[in-house]
Amino acid sequence: MPMITKTRIVASIGPASNDKNILLDMIKAGMNVARLNFSHGSYQGKLEVLAHLRELQEETGLHISVIGDLQGPKLRLGALPDDGIRIKNGETVHFTTNPDKTGESVYLVNYDSFARDVKPGDRILIDDGTIKLEATKTNRNDSVEAKVLSGGTLLSKKGINLPDSSLSLPAITNKDKEDIKFAVKNKIDWFALSFVRSSKDIRELRAHLDDCHCNARIIAKIEKPEAVEDIDAITDAADGIMVARGDLGVEVDFKKVPIIQKHIVKLCIQKAKPVIIATQMLDSMIHNFRPTRAEANDVANAVMDMADGLMLSGETAIGKYPVGSVESMQSIIEYTEQEGLEYNLNHPPPPDTKAFIPDSVCYNAFKMAQQTSAKAIITFSYSGYTALRISSHRPRSPIYAFTSNKKLLKKLPLIWGINAFYFPVYNDIDKAISHSINVLKEKGILSAGGKVIHVGSTPLTSKSHTNMMKFSEVT
Ligand code: PEP
Repeated sequence: MPMITKTRIVASIGPASNDKNILLDMIKAGMNVARLNFSHGSYQGKLEVLAHLRELQEETGLHISVIGDLQGPKLRLGALPDDGIRIKNGETVHFTTNPDKTGESVYLVNYDSFARDVKPGDRILIDDGTIKLEATKTNRNDSVEAKVLSGGTLLSKKGINLPDSSLSLPAITNKDKEDIKFAVKNKIDWFALSFVRSSKDIRELRAHLDDCHCNARIIAKIEKPEAVEDIDAITDAADGIMVARGDLGVEVDFKKVPIIQKHIVKLCIQKAKPVIIATQMLDSMIHNFRPTRAEANDVANAVMDMADGLMLSGETAIGKYPVGSVESMQSIIEYTEQEGLEYNLNHPPPPDTKAFIPDSVCYNAFKMAQQTSAKAIITFSYSGYTALRISSHRPRSPIYAFTSNKKLLKKLPLIWGINAFYFPVYNDIDKAISHSINVLKEKGILSAGGKVIHVGSTPLTSKSHTNMMKFSEVT
């Protein structure tokens, strides 16, 4: 098994990794979270992956979180011939939303309001922005005329981005609703929502999940300029954020992506919300057995910025080296955490917030761990709040979260530095403390003489806010 690192690896599962032995090797190499992308593949394929993961968790005793990534309002071209259609600079083409009107130089788009939302002068970007057109006319019904600015080959179902247009699409499409039903039934831990435009989209998904009696957590994928504008409110409304650099780098000028990434990571750490950096982290490993130097740098920088999770997409879903990609990412994380990470962020909670007391207990527990070089910060957490708050200080001391909430055990693998254990409910805090120390001693994690800090809430059975910290020396 790899060294337990603080930074987590999220691996997208696809045809290259939908196999029990490969998944086992990926877990052994350091994968903490599996991402199932509802933009691709069948329900049957996803059921197989979920069954493999359940068996592997039983067999290895490790918890692996599952993210269900909803496609959201993604615009796509219709079906085209296998070899695609080449369009050249300067050419005029048409897009239609009416399947009966396709033909030579007239291509289908899967979005009914396309001709109403696009205005002359708006950019139309296709296939991750590799093909660029400008809208020249629209009949405001079902047809848009456009001039090709940078040509290429149009391929079936490729994505379309309209960075200049304001879209009237719903945040959750009918396809998403079907996918949510499937994911709820199969107990997925986290939902990622694509193309979030405002915090309202997150509230809409939350209400939908509540209607399904589902307490899965929500990650907002930041890939639209509107979402970057509304990032504060989106971070408050969501349980986590993904910097989805693929579409983001098409929707906003790519030169802005690094600064947006740094800003979002900082904000999420301050708000104790997990943040994932996604897309092209080790992209060349789709074909090659080792990453480029620039990719190694990208991974190491995200580790030094202290993002919670780093995501592999095509590398593990369709690439030649799914296990090698996880191994490479893990080795960069291990080395960078040892040699390049500062740890111990010092951000005391502002006194005027509603959660000041619980947040202050967590902050002071972290400070004491830092001052005493504690061997462990042990949290008793039902909702996970205490564990997440402690993690947000990015302590050098390892965090061990003990919880009686089995669903939480499967959500925590995404969170920076948290190692989670199941623990029965105790009435007596002293018994709970000695139980947790004994578990860690039995596992060889703690030994006599080590200093530990416990933090949680008492009475333990009341599930109230964090109000307790205790210093102990292991005997
Ligand atoms: C992205 O655009 O970076 C992303 C993660 O989304 P997807 O892989 O669904 O396109």
